[in-house]
Amino acid sequence: MNLIERLVRPEVRALTAYHVPSAEGLIKLDAMENPYSLPENLRDKWLQKLRRVELNRYPDADAGKLKSKIRAVFDVPDELGLVLGNGSDELIQIVASLVGGPGRGFMAPSPTFSMYEIISIASSTIFNSVPLDKNFEPDETGFLQQIERVNPACIFIAYPNNPTANSFATDFIESVIKAAPGLVLIDEAYNTFSGKTFLQQLEKYPNVLLMRTLSKSGLAGLRLGMIMGHPEWVQMIEKIRLPYNINCLTQVSAEFCLDHYSVFSEQAAQIVKDRAWLAEQLSQLDATIVYPSDTNFILVRIEQGATSVFEALKNQGILVKNLDPVGGALKNCLRLTVGTPNENSRLVEALRACLE
Ligand code: PMP
Repeated sequence: MNLIERLVRPEVRALTAYHVPSAEGLIKLDAMENPYSLPENLRDKWLQKLRRVELNRYPDADAGKLKSKIRAVFDVPDELGLVLGNGSDELIQIVASLVGGPGRGFMAPSPTFSMYEIISIASSTIFNSVPLDKNFEPDETGFLQQIERVNPACIFIAYPNNPTANSFATDFIESVIKAAPGLVLIDEAYNTFSGKTFLQQLEKYPNVLLMRTLSKSGLAGLRLGMIMGHPEWVQMIEKIRLPYNINCLTQVSAEFCLDHYSVFSEQAAQIVKDRAWLAEQLSQLDATIVYPSDTNFILVRIEQGATSVFEALKNQGILVKNLDPVGGALKNCLRLTVGTPNENSRLVEALRACLE
């Protein structure tokens, strides 16, 4: 259609929409979800809270009650600002519209979380990526040189990184923060599984924003992300955040879950244990490289061809993420989310059957 060609910018027309495959009837190990649902004994109490929600009213625009629970559970110091998003995806979009735009640049290592690039393009900001080495570690010198060349308005660092599952060295990240002429967004989506954080350093670095999400901790359906950082940055973000971005069902449900957060931390601890079991089993499979993981997923490279293994797994009722089509450093890679012990055993058995 001519109108589309005239109005939609070519770089947006060239994008492919983020594809979410149907997982109906399959063991779902493709999206880094926590495999455990809310325990039965909490369900009724949660539903009682939901009964009282006034759906005819707009939600609390500031989500004040939820924010104070977040501050308490995640030890967010009072000196830091806190802003919530409809998933951390929305917060990336807000940061991009705050400091991006024509003539500006963003930067990130590659491979990394694909939304950084998609959102950069959508906000008319040039996206510059710096390749990681063959072990998915950054080349500090190359990265710093690129910062100087690009003068990025924002650098995205997923800590740990998706889809490579490793955490970059703190020395590297600190060098990036010191060299950055603009913002550095440290995305700690997988913090629950790595136990590593820059939260304590935030007050020292006024150009750093730290982002977290409840998605990987068992609450992906709620869509709740958060950014912590210098209050002056948070005030700027507040200017362009849509007023009711956190709906009332999410606010009430998240408040409830934060009141019972130990349940979710115990699930995360279980997933970390199961990750070690899964990694060990995977490393015994022929022709498979298993990369170290600080997250709730494991990246593997299957020398004999990942796409055929991905299809074979699907035929056996297991959905994982096929990164082979991305190509480059991710050729022949699959990303396997850690599931329940039973799902993990089924995955290992199915992989063994494919590879033998
Ligand atoms: N950051 C990273 C590094 C991720 O891997 C993901 C989800 N895949 C997100 C952010 C988005 O999380 P949310 O569900 O909070 O939008």
